[in-house]
Amino acid sequence: MKILIVEDEKALQQSMIQYLQAAGFQCASAGDFRQALHLLDEVDYDAIVLDIMLPDGDGLTLLKILKEDKKQEGVIVVSARGDVDDRILGLKLGADDYLAKPFHMAELAARLYAIIRRKQFQGMNNLQAGDIYVNLERREVCVNGYAVNLTRKEYDLLLFFLANKNRVITRQALAEHLCQEHQDWFDDYDLVYAHVKNLKKKLAEKGCTDCIKSVYGIGYRFIC
Ligand code: CA
Repeated sequence: MKILIVEDEKALQQSMIQYLQAAGFQCASAGDFRQALHLLDEVDYDAIVLDIMLPDGDGLTLLKILKEDKKQEGVIVVSARGDVDDRILGLKLGADDYLAKPFHMAELAARLYAIIRRKQFQGMNNLQAGDIYVNLERREVCVNGYAVNLTRKEYDLLLFFLANKNRVITRQALAEHLCQEHQDWFDDYDLVYAHVKNLKKKLAEKGCTDCIKSVYGIGYRFIC
């Protein structure tokens, strides 16, 4: 999965590259508009992480050019301007998703994963991690050949873990992912705990034990 990260904040760019590479993405980066345009001319990517405010231009203009050129890359717009207008404009211009800064790297990885999955659905219809099989089209999960009946939240949680395999994921990142539409719940870690516990139990019942490890005081790690 080849990604282009367009971001002028050096530290943020570096941490995105570091995290996404460890999560299995192949990353290229551009620190300004011109460099991004040049790379996009030369290379086809699976997805682009696009910052709006660049020192020599506007990320949304870049998005417009991409769409005019009928480029197929999935685009996730990231912006410090959390305001609704930018978000709507970005989506109208054809972005696939929008993430307001600051965000968790685990959330970015999960959203990129989802975009690429949607775009290349044929090729990635089935996911496998250890003994776990997921049929994305039918939203079915099997462990060792046995169907596992998950709720929507548990299913989302499992895909989030699969997108961030072997990485520590904070409880806060999970809470935000699970409760995107309910900001008041962001700090409700009991909810995270309950969903993780149920998911673990259901996977364990079919023979997949110990794939979700607690990381004391921080969160969880999905190992396979
Ligand atoms: Ca910027």
